[in-house]
Amino acid sequence: MNRPHRAWIGLGSNLDDPHGHIERALAELDGLPLTRRLRASPRYASRPVGPADQPDFVNAVAELATRLSPLALLDQLQALEQRHGRVRGRRWGPRTLDLDLLLFDTHDIEIPRLTLPHAEMTRRAFVLVPLADLEPRLRLPDGREVASLAATLAPDGLRQVLPEAPQ
Ligand code: ATP
Ligand code: CA
Ligand code: CA
Repeated sequence: MNRPHRAWIGLGSNLDDPHGHIERALAELDGLPLTRRLRASPRYASRPVGPADQPDFVNAVAELATRLSPLALLDQLQALEQRHGRVRGRRWGPRTLDLDLLLFDTHDIEIPRLTLPHAEMTRRAFVLVPLADLEPRLRLPDGREVASLAATLAPDGLRQVLPEAPQ
């Protein structure tokens, strides 16, 4: 069989026990079809992007090995968000669980449902810092290194909340 794909997921939650949603989602990613969760980053707290009148987020990044296609994986991530009771409200509003597909192998695609790499990831410390914790030498498809990009961003209120080593 061919090698599985490697995908990186950004997790976020700021409603109804955010830590609980993140810890459960990290376990549930391992239960997706044709998919294994490899490592998970430390957990961080971050200030919300967009509307500021909402709680801080808990964020983490997970590494997956998957035999799903990018769109099939996105379907699974969106179904998992639904199972966590996600309600789509205003843009960048509060949510029980957000699962963003950050990177999928070295795919560089832009279709209505899916942009890879995730369009905002290079501007977000709460994505790049945990990603660099796991894999500092990781590069985007255009060759830029995650750790170097992370170093250029203001920390913007980001703080590690669980100092565990990557699992
Ligand atoms: P942002 O994308 O800026 O982090 P968000 O996570 O709040 O914002 P959502 O409402 O969760 O945005 O998703 C909006 C749409 O983005 C989804 O319907 C999905 O099809 C699309 N999308 C495009 N690229 C991706 C990606 N790489 N990962 C997840 N969703 C994506
Ligand atoms: Ca998001
Ligand atoms: Ca999203």
